[in-house]
Amino acid sequence: MDAVPPTKLRSKLEDLARNLWWSWQPDVVGLFEALDPETWSRLNHNPVALLEALGDQQLSEVTRVKGLESRILDASRRLESYLGSRDTWGAVNAGALKPRPVAYFSAEFGIHESLPLYSGGLGVLAGDHVKASSDLDISLWGVGLFYAQGYFTQRLDQDDWQQEEFGNVDIRSLPLDKVRGPDGEPVRIEVRSGDEVIHAHIWRARVGRCNLALLDTDVEGNSPESRQITHRLYWGDRTSRILQEIVLGIGGIRALDKLGVRPGVYHLNEGHSGFALLEATRVEMEENGVSFNEAARRIGARSVFTTHTPVPAGHDRFDQASMEHHLGWLRHDLGLSSDDFMALGRSRAGSDSEEFCMTVLALRLAHRSNGVASVHGEVSRQMWKDLWPERPVQEVPIGHVTNGVHVRSWMAPQLALALERRLGPDWVRGVSRQELWRHMDRVSATEIWENHQLLKANLIHFTRQRYLEQELRKGTDGAVAAERAANLLHPDALTLGFARRFATYKRATLAFRDKERLARLLCDKDRPVQMIFAGKAHPRDGGGKGLIQQIAKLQHEDPFKGRIVYLEDYDINVGRALVSGVDVWVNNPVRPQEACGTSGMKAALNGVLNCSIRDGWWAEASDGRNGFDVTSPGPHNDQEIQDERDHAALLAVLENEAVPLYFDRDEEGLPTEWIERVRWAFMTLAWRYSADRMVIDYAKQCYLPAALGDSCRL
Ligand SMILES: *Cc1c(COP(=O)(O)O)cnc(C)c1O
Repeated sequence: MDAVPPTKLRSKLEDLARNLWWSWQPDVVGLFEALDPETWSRLNHNPVALLEALGDQQLSEVTRVKGLESRILDASRRLESYLGSRDTWGAVNAGALKPRPVAYFSAEFGIHESLPLYSGGLGVLAGDHVKASSDLDISLWGVGLFYAQGYFTQRLDQDDWQQEEFGNVDIRSLPLDKVRGPDGEPVRIEVRSGDEVIHAHIWRARVGRCNLALLDTDVEGNSPESRQITHRLYWGDRTSRILQEIVLGIGGIRALDKLGVRPGVYHLNEGHSGFALLEATRVEMEENGVSFNEAARRIGARSVFTTHTPVPAGHDRFDQASMEHHLGWLRHDLGLSSDDFMALGRSRAGSDSEEFCMTVLALRLAHRSNGVASVHGEVSRQMWKDLWPERPVQEVPIGHVTNGVHVRSWMAPQLALALERRLGPDWVRGVSRQELWRHMDRVSATEIWENHQLLKANLIHFTRQRYLEQELRKGTDGAVAAERAANLLHPDALTLGFARRFATYKRATLAFRDKERLARLLCDKDRPVQMIFAGKAHPRDGGGKGLIQQIAKLQHEDPFKGRIVYLEDYDINVGRALVSGVDVWVNNPVRPQEACGTSGMKAALNGVLNCSIRDGWWAEASDGRNGFDVTSPGPHNDQEIQDERDHAALLAVLENEAVPLYFDRDEEGLPTEWIERVRWAFMTLAWRYSADRMVIDYAKQCYLPAALGDSCRL
């Protein structure tokens, strides 16, 4: 029965592939995979590339043989119905944003591993923010840069030292459309840097109901240097940095205008895009003939700024000469003296030696500013109190909205299915409601355990496979590598996971301070423990690379061999596997430097218990029963002493709490107390650390008041 012509099926599949909505629909992911599992995996789960690789003949053959026709039609209908649905949270609660959407500026967007526009947590958070906005039906345009070379592929060399590989992505195989004018020519925007005019094209990506506008300076007419501005994420020196930020902020405002989008709210995800507020102010002055102060007040009232790091080096700063060189024209248009212009980015009035800080600019202009967890709000108020010298620190106007993660993207499909069976197909619309998760009561301990064991088996398989590939790449003899891979990890061992950027403050090697003690923990005959690591260091962070090297070397040495593994090239794909398959997610940053941390939230959505220092989100999330706390006195001025204390506390909680609880089995072999903790973690954490809850918080506390012109600060 060939009811639907093959060309029609192909076009339906292409429509699905070109809206990133598919990436959080496990059944559509499964559909693409079913078309050709081997190619799907080889192409890094990119459906546009997959469809290109499959000829018409092959496509219609596989559709027929595997009976996929009805699944394709069903997926296509579901996308249509999703896009057309009017019965949404946003329709009821955020109608004011419909005509004037939120413009969400971010230097990174981590939507899916096949679209390499992110480096780590900030990007994944932005991706989750856009996805949740789509699900809730909040009108939002993401504004970012198109990096033709993405971040980098991480490889370890013979000496286990990180090497960065860049390759041009094939734009035709990405779900991006170049924005064109009525004449069919690409729309161009221009920004100025000094005397030079920089041109950019705009790529549009569809993310469910929302859109991304991505600027690309690799266009004809630009100097060779300008063509490179958007090549790579966070790669260059300060000059390339300011150029990227000019394109992102100023270019971003101009791109929205060209697209006919009139934002009601500007949300800056981190300070990189701060220049957007200056450009919006300039436009306001020009269009309405008002003064700088009045224009800045009007734009500020509609602006939201989220700061993401308490680490000083994480805030971009530019010196006066560089500001004047690149942005003298803007200063002139704004009618400001060089000193007044600089003062917008200086934390103390009249300090003429201070550099221009993008975070200060955003804090000064946006009327609503927030950190990303309660502790981080507090730390930020302390950190930026000089901006409001007349106020006591607790009245510094920086609040907090704790981050969250997109449940449908991060919960393993089989767990989502188990919930759906109990709660009905609409469960996913209620993930931010606490009541929903009470129903975890209805899932038996056996089912929770069996599900987890399956996910753990998947992870072990995945890890062995990746390990084998990385050993072969390094030139290890095939038979040796295969044997090592086969002996790697044991399904019955308590499995700890640690994956994040290898910024030194995250202390990936904390557990290794006392190798003998760690060896005793891992090698216990009856109660074995093992660890899986992954994470990239910034290309210029030698310290981070050193930590990677330490771990990567130990994985081949006794007694750690087979019990420790380091996976190369951490990305969303590796992240998904890890956060769903380990038993415990370890987090031991230097307090209070972890602004929030989101990987632990992903773990909690998968029945994995957090074992964490009380910093970032965990400081407010832990209730003593929904995971494990690593507590020690501090912070001490001497980092060595603090590391030693935290190390001792980490090992103690693993030895005395996690291990005994995990290996305490009933007559059926179930660790019943452990499972109850997992259940409790679902109930207390899943709703509260969902991206839906986060976006609803932003909508209620920031977007709606900003759009309605309510000028009170958060
Ligand atoms: C979630 C995620 C992060 C952020 O992890 P933290 O715990 O916040 O450090 C970084 N990278 C990837 C690929 C992620 O998926």
